[in-house]
Amino acid sequence: MFDIIDIVKKRRINKMEKQRMVTGITPSGSMSLGNYLGVVKNLVEYQNEYELFVFVANLHAITIPQDSTSLKSKTKEMTALYIACGLDPEKMTLFLQSDVFEHAQLGWILTTQSTMGELSRMTQFKDKSSKQSEGDNISIPTGLFTYPCLMAADILLYDPKFVPVGVDQKQHLELSRDIAIRMNNKYDEMHVVPEPILTKGNIKIMDLQDPTKKMSKSSDNPKAVIKMLDTPAEITSKIKAAVTDSENLIKYDPINKPGVSNLMNIYSIIKNVSIDDCHKMWEGKNYKDLKDDVTQALLELIIPIQEKYSEIIKGDYLKEVLEKGALKAKKIAHKKLNKVQNKLGINWYRK
Ligand code: ATP
Ligand code: MG
Repeated sequence: MFDIIDIVKKRRINKMEKQRMVTGITPSGSMSLGNYLGVVKNLVEYQNEYELFVFVANLHAITIPQDSTSLKSKTKEMTALYIACGLDPEKMTLFLQSDVFEHAQLGWILTTQSTMGELSRMTQFKDKSSKQSEGDNISIPTGLFTYPCLMAADILLYDPKFVPVGVDQKQHLELSRDIAIRMNNKYDEMHVVPEPILTKGNIKIMDLQDPTKKMSKSSDNPKAVIKMLDTPAEITSKIKAAVTDSENLIKYDPINKPGVSNLMNIYSIIKNVSIDDCHKMWEGKNYKDLKDDVTQALLELIIPIQEKYSEIIKGDYLKEVLEKGALKAKKIAHKKLNKVQNKLGINWYRK
């Protein structure tokens, strides 16, 4: 009897000791190698160390025009891929952003707590809006501008201690922190101010066709991005066509040789070998050797994930995972939204 009580107590303490972490990926395209190596791979480790909440950010996806049929399948695909890549819904909480209405509710409140000046400084808005507009502001969705407020809501709703982010999302997290601090000062300790956890080694996988910019799943050039569901033939041909330079010298130099350095980086991260060891390994070899080795490493990584994916995508399993996840997330989100609404004076009859 005492043993059982001890075990229950220990479990409770373990649960209490785990610090909370929240993150999400937008289903604006199929999961890329950049997303996997930059974030998802780490989440698989974090789920053992933290109380981890991961959501598929479908409300963020619609900040740029989407075809509804394709958005549905991309959302399902992203959910299945998270699990195929190693996330275990028994250890962490996986849910769909739109299933927890509190995200949009708090998102609206946070648009009233941020300024046009702050949002105008977001470099991602500048990049993405220039793609949407043809020289004017008329065709830029307003949601693209206010996106960081929804992202702040995604985070602050759960009062996490940590948010794992790639370097490209650091500015958005800074804004979430600024909003949290501002509201804490104004309304008295409302939010936990989240800390970023940057990907180990600040991993940034670059675009295969323009290695001076980061690989993005929403890129309109299919040759530029390795997708986790690409066929072996597609992976082989994308790496073969990856931009390098005319020197035929395998050397890590991201400034002067961004294409070659990106391929070396991909190999070194997948195989967990240092760049120094990569230099030794490829001494006297040419770009074809480099590309063959990178292709081989990619196939070894991706094929088992794809096999698991084909199992998960069948039947009602995903729906069950998301329903259970949303219920769990909602419990925390609802309580937090209520607290924010009360402090702002939105509710007068609810405690
Ligand atoms: P989009 O083009 O729609 O912005 P994306 O590929 O940038 O897609 P996001 O959904 O914006 O992906 O980001 C999901 C996570 O993946 C973020 O934490 C981001 O930092 C990380 N990430 C995205 N691209 C890369 C990359 N090339 N290298 C490393 N991490 C990345
Ligand atoms: Mg992005």
